[in-house]
Amino acid sequence: MIVPVTRTSMPDLEEYIAEIKDLWESRWLTNMGVKHDRLEVQLAEYLDSSNISLFTNGHLALETAIAAFNLSGEVITTPFTFVSTTHAIVRNGLKPVFCDINEENYTINIDNLESLITERTSAIIPVHVYGNICNVDEIERIASKYNLRVIYDAAHAFGVKVNDRGIGSFGDASMFSFHATKVFNTIEGGALTFSNSELISKLNALKNFGITSQETVDFIGGNSKMNEFQAAMGLCNLRYIDVEIMKRKAIVERYVENLAGIPGIKLVQPQIGVKGNYSYFPVVFDGYKLKRDEVFELLKENNIIARKYFYPLTSSFECYNGMFNTDETPIAKYIADRILTLPLYADLEFENVDRICRIIKG
Ligand SMILES: *Cc1c(COP(=O)(O)O)cnc(C)c1O
Repeated sequence: MIVPVTRTSMPDLEEYIAEIKDLWESRWLTNMGVKHDRLEVQLAEYLDSSNISLFTNGHLALETAIAAFNLSGEVITTPFTFVSTTHAIVRNGLKPVFCDINEENYTINIDNLESLITERTSAIIPVHVYGNICNVDEIERIASKYNLRVIYDAAHAFGVKVNDRGIGSFGDASMFSFHATKVFNTIEGGALTFSNSELISKLNALKNFGITSQETVDFIGGNSKMNEFQAAMGLCNLRYIDVEIMKRKAIVERYVENLAGIPGIKLVQPQIGVKGNYSYFPVVFDGYKLKRDEVFELLKENNIIARKYFYPLTSSFECYNGMFNTDETPIAKYIADRILTLPLYADLEFENVDRICRIIKG
């Protein structure tokens, strides 16, 4: 039996069928249908933002957010993320400027941030990587000092709370991904939460070809609407999200019991005031008897699939043709060479967690 790195949570088939059944009556399958609108309301509440727009995936939500803010020049971000974050910046014709990460939780390094700001900088796109929350207060302080927009890549942070404040309430906007591999899924899907309520008509137009009324097209928009089958999956999955996160919490605690305090194995410490979502379990092998790649191979021989997430850095991908120098983000480079995310999903058995840890401990 293979233990995958992740496994998609799905509602009972009957529950999903019940949820989609009326689509055969209404014949309204996309373009802001009833289910889309219902999910939007429920997610706004869950993510703690009065302003939300749903998308067909997280990546296009991020691209659209960048477009909506009319950014120009340079955008400060980190290379220790999924390639989507960097692509979204470049595909909008902007230049990513890479800031290093910190060693504690791998989010943007606040100490380096300010020195990267130039007169060309228009925004910061930090990543709540693994559901670890960026230093939102410092980012807000710096952004308002230099009049920069802040768009969080919150793809990993669904449902996280910071001092009882929902994760959708920070920055100018936050992007969420509801891809099948994420804590909450709509098969594929995504959302933007944002602080300025006036943006809603622009965002909703941008995701539908820029159309603002039957005979007017005010923006050069694309097509990134969430359809009714996606929304139906979301409505079902949202009923179980708290249980889902609790199950993940128990699994993470089991991992920690097994692996805490072992020299050479570094785990992320819980963040004070943060109620996490336990989306990933990253482990850094630094000075351990086995190197990261050796642990990866050893697990694979035992039919356990871990993931070198995030390796390589986005700044080093072929498509960027040597445009960026990974030596400028030494911590990100160091961590990318040593990190491994272990299997984690709601119904991963404790037995398998223990087995994975036994193999790692040798
Ligand atoms: C998943 C993910 C995305 C992209 O989301 P999709 O819904 O797959 O388009 C962007 N950024 C990060 C950090 C992600 O993990």
